[in-house]
Amino acid sequence: MVEGCLFCGIVEGSVPADKVYEDADAIAFTDINPQAPTHVLVIPRTHYVDLVELAEHPTAASTLAQAIAAVARELGLSDFRTVFNTGAEVGQSVFHVHAHVLAGRPMTWPPG
Ligand code: 5GP
Ligand code: ZN
Repeated sequence: MVEGCLFCGIVEGSVPADKVYEDADAIAFTDINPQAPTHVLVIPRTHYVDLVELAEHPTAASTLAQAIAAVARELGLSDFRTVFNTGAEVGQSVFHVHAHVLAGRPMTWPPG
């Protein structure tokens, strides 16, 4: 747990969240400012600042990928977009790694 980290607060339960999935290593909850009919954030319980730091821990990275797949399965998503923002310049605002899982509307490419 990292003091002052919003998502560590959600992991430990001091910050409320609308959880849609949890397992021993990861939790998923609805984004507070959804950008699609389904917009879920999937996070490891352990604090890593971003995807680059997560990648230094291959087991944790693999486990998070499995949690994303489990969330998609449990929510019945066949088509979904997964986004990891890495760095403030591209929009990362919470520095506890999280996968955005977005679905339920047509999406364009390239993203904005
Ligand atoms: P980032 O901008 O770091 O890629 O994504 C952070 C996401 O966290 C944003 O989409 C934002 O809406 C969401 N968020 C920020 N604060 C909260 C919160 O307190 N609860 C939930 N559920 N989502 C949050
Ligand atoms: Zn954290």
